[in-house]
Amino acid sequence: MKKYPLFIDGKWVDSVSGKTFESINPATLEVNGVIAEGDAADIDLAVKAARKAFELGPWASMTPSERARLLYRAAQKLWENVDYLAEVESNDNGLTISETKLIAIPAAIEVLEFYAGMVTKIQGDTLSSPADRFNYTLREPVGVVGAIVPWNFPIMLTMWKLAPALAAGNTIVIKPAEQTPISVLELARLLQEAGIPDGVINVVNGYGHTAGAALASHPDVDKIAFTGSTATGRLIMQAASKHLKPISLELGGKSPNIVFDDADLDAAIRGSLFGIYFAQGQVCAAGSRLFVQDTIYDRFVDEFARKAQSIRVGHPLDPATQMGPQVSEEQLQTIERYVEIGKQEGAELITGGKRNEQCGSGFYYTPTVFANVDNHMKIAKEEIFGPVVSIIRFKDEEDAVRKANDTIYGLASGLWTTNLARAHRVARKLKAGTVYVNTFSMLDSAAPFGGVKQSGFGRELGIEAMNMYTQTKHVWVNLNESAFDWYGV
Ligand code: ADP
Repeated sequence: MKKYPLFIDGKWVDSVSGKTFESINPATLEVNGVIAEGDAADIDLAVKAARKAFELGPWASMTPSERARLLYRAAQKLWENVDYLAEVESNDNGLTISETKLIAIPAAIEVLEFYAGMVTKIQGDTLSSPADRFNYTLREPVGVVGAIVPWNFPIMLTMWKLAPALAAGNTIVIKPAEQTPISVLELARLLQEAGIPDGVINVVNGYGHTAGAALASHPDVDKIAFTGSTATGRLIMQAASKHLKPISLELGGKSPNIVFDDADLDAAIRGSLFGIYFAQGQVCAAGSRLFVQDTIYDRFVDEFARKAQSIRVGHPLDPATQMGPQVSEEQLQTIERYVEIGKQEGAELITGGKRNEQCGSGFYYTPTVFANVDNHMKIAKEEIFGPVVSIIRFKDEEDAVRKANDTIYGLASGLWTTNLARAHRVARKLKAGTVYVNTFSMLDSAAPFGGVKQSGFGRELGIEAMNMYTQTKHVWVNLNESAFDWYGV
């Protein structure tokens, strides 16, 4: 059985307590590996290593060009290992090999390249100053960053934090999700091989309430970047408040996806299928509330359900598979609970609604469609984080916008129409961090991503994210040697 230690200060080490836990392959229930289980003591060692690497040593003294070159070299190393990383990630969390190899891993590496390019563009301002002084700002790294990441896209969501953090000259301690502890370790190993100095990247596996909480409340961590559930986001905010630590939270969603009757229906159906079933519905931005105009409602639901039934569920490493297993038994049970609630609430279960046992012993579910859902039902209000869509009827543009915005969340939203004016009009009215027009669940390194309302705050990706990993220092230089003459000395 392969053992996976912690990665602290460039060394592979056991946890202080000596504890371990097993990581399960969600497709087969086989044990992928035995993982060193870190807690507060290990987090402390990792933070100390990150602090040392931030203040002293090769990382601290590297020129921006050298740092940029190193990050490009690291990206190159990852490109050479896409297949390997994709397989590790798929074994860890059940994403299909197409999802990891063609989408998640390449997207993560592009993020690293994007921020490698940013290293040499970090700059402050020369401020308007009178003749007797000179005022300017410096953009400086914040210091030690703590990254707490979830299990749905471990490598990609780690990279959203790691790449801008390192580009700005910070160091980082990463706490991967306990369900997917292996792929981020493999990422760290490759980055070390590419030449990232010891202590710059540290990975401490362990549970949320122990290792995660210790990182969020550690006095020597300068910033926390978190992606995960809204409930955990609240706990992180509380923990970080102890030392007034800045945080960014990318949390849950119940994203509306609106199909107007003037849409290209084929494209809307295909895009909306991707919007909900991509990554088994385990996507914070998933288009889980599908609003369809009443004039096309029945036709849309029929066609959508027919296509949902034809999705090939199977082993994630089979290239023909379109939907793999859910990540865990716990997630399966959550989905089952919501499906029961949906039925009791009077929503119409059109297809799915059960485990898929033909695929083997893994955590397989079937693509599920609920129609005639009311926007106030629980299955329309709460995040299920599985392949379950709630299709809701609307009358006109105003009705669609009102219903779409009637949620505690605001991560993403989408709309399908061929009417250009309507597209832009509705895009302005939707209360969400992202609006997709005639597409869904797309990401780009240059495009800021994050939420409003209880989907969190802060924007990852894009130039904007650099603001979260740098801080402004103002320098005031006196040019007037007799400035304090009024003391008459
Ligand atoms: P899920 O409920 O889907 O597992 P979470 O938001 O709980 O999602 O998990 C996302 C990440 O947050 C994981 O790395 C998890 O270990 C971590 N986590 C969970 N609880 C806490 C906590 N109290 N403090 C810090 N991190 C936590």
